[in-house]
Amino acid sequence: KETDSSSTTIDGYQLVAKILKSLGIDAAFGVLGIPVTKLGICCQQEKVRFISTRHELPASYAAGAFGYLEGKPGVCITVSGPGCLHALAGLASATVNCFPMILLSGAAENSQIDRGAFQECDQLRAAVPHAKQVFRVDDITDSARFLCRAFHVARSGRPGGVYIEFPSNVLHQKLEREKVEELLSFSKEFISSPRNMPVPTATVVQQTVQFLRNAERPLVVIGKGANYARAEEELAGFINTLKIPFLATPMGKGCIPDSHPQSAAAARSLVLKEADVVLLVGARLNWILHYGKPPRWSNQCKFIQLDICEEEFYRNTNIALAVFGDIQESVRLLHNAVKLEPFEVPVDWRNKVRQKCDENTKKLESRLQESKMPLDFHCALNAMRQVIASLPHPKPILVSEGANTMDFGRLILPVEEPRSRLDAGTWGTMGVGMGYAIASAVSNPGRSVIALEGDSAFGFSGMEIETIIRYNLPILTVVFNNNGIYGGTEKSADPADPAPTCFVPNAHYEKIAEAFGGLSYWIETAEQLGKALREALASKKPALLNVIIDPAAGTESGSLTSHN
Ligand code: ADP
Ligand code: MG
Repeated sequence: KETDSSSTTIDGYQLVAKILKSLGIDAAFGVLGIPVTKLGICCQQEKVRFISTRHELPASYAAGAFGYLEGKPGVCITVSGPGCLHALAGLASATVNCFPMILLSGAAENSQIDRGAFQECDQLRAAVPHAKQVFRVDDITDSARFLCRAFHVARSGRPGGVYIEFPSNVLHQKLEREKVEELLSFSKEFISSPRNMPVPTATVVQQTVQFLRNAERPLVVIGKGANYARAEEELAGFINTLKIPFLATPMGKGCIPDSHPQSAAAARSLVLKEADVVLLVGARLNWILHYGKPPRWSNQCKFIQLDICEEEFYRNTNIALAVFGDIQESVRLLHNAVKLEPFEVPVDWRNKVRQKCDENTKKLESRLQESKMPLDFHCALNAMRQVIASLPHPKPILVSEGANTMDFGRLILPVEEPRSRLDAGTWGTMGVGMGYAIASAVSNPGRSVIALEGDSAFGFSGMEIETIIRYNLPILTVVFNNNGIYGGTEKSADPADPAPTCFVPNAHYEKIAEAFGGLSYWIETAEQLGKALREALASKKPALLNVIIDPAAGTESGSLTSHN
């Protein structure tokens, strides 16, 4: 074997794995095959944990989520041609969600291009629209230079996906061992140089504070950018001083706990409609925030946007003030400026928000107390909520997707820690859940992960249950099984076929876990759900809980009915 340490040369596989390790990459996700098989093995030799999934799609989603959770690029490794194309969805998704990620693919060699070579494909051009930058490494001695660039571009400015490919002949190239040290010293020097994060000028800081001081009904909106920037301490300090109501976006949740007294989560419609000054912290005014426009927002509302991407400002609506900077440091500066002359936001506004929250919370609580058979979303989620509430901190990471499952889950299951809730994200992508759950478990050793999946969402990557069990990841996959997309009640217009949104009714998804030796549960009642959750969490073993939900309980498109 060429991996023999007495050999005077090493090859491209070994070199790439060594460079990845020198960049601080501790895990990679992918599917092995020609020409990258040996790369997975070399990764293991270099102590880069290699998570080998059953399809490139979940591997690519895992790499993006891993980048988000770790604050540095997550890596997905694919074979040439089809394998690479399968992973482009994850690359695109990472770029759209602002997750740092590197898709590293094998490729057919130059001399074989246009010959109809094995898995030949113009991958580079396919990747261009979905990546911040693409690289092709044509000589092994360029590996360190290009991998450092890929790493740098993925994490810098607004984070996103970068594509890099290694033709098979380059992976087979040999290099003298002395040269290896030289290349590694390049990547080690790169990674150890300090990063400069942008901060707003003193004037902009002053202006921001002035806006907030003069506001009658101010609001902070916390997006997933704040979670990514690890700004939880700075934001908590800022919010506590000002007592300013805040609203988190679906993945901005947890940066400040949902249970915080200033959380306006239960008064979302009210605060959107009535806020007069809004500080956006790492959140875009896209569809998730109704484009910042009436009727959901007041047309008098002044937006102050804090973001690391200057190009993002003025999209969809004019903003009163652009605060260009990294969230962590910028919020610290804002808080310092407030502390010089402290103030609190008007008490009438705080009381109004609190009152509305109490009212809505009460309504939801009484709805949650209704017991239904078969289970509906509220009943099932209430059982889960009770178990989660009884657990010590840190709570399990929650991954959630599926239309109704995700919408109701977001309302009912509180998030108490930063970077602890991942969902369909900016694209509203169904099928990310199993990859995200795997990334969450790998990034948080010892901590449980709950993957709450609609039956349709689960189906995209259900085979990853085998991956989860093979790596013994403490992931509880909870399938809310209502027999179809949105629900299994649609009538078919073709007597020969089922309706296109309906699945096999009462399917035994739990048998998938059973097939590979995981824990499996068929669940029809709230008591069974609570018991199974507690048991599976205590065991720290992979489990699949198949929860039978009333097929008529959901609504079409979940909370997005007007889009369909
Ligand atoms: P959400 O879906 O939660 O609203 P978005 O993905 O729309 O979140 O927005 C996240 C924003 O955070 C992006 O505009 C991105 O440029 C920004 N961002 C990411 N990292 C940082 C950072 N370190 N500092 C400031 N802004 C950041
Ligand atoms: Mg369903």
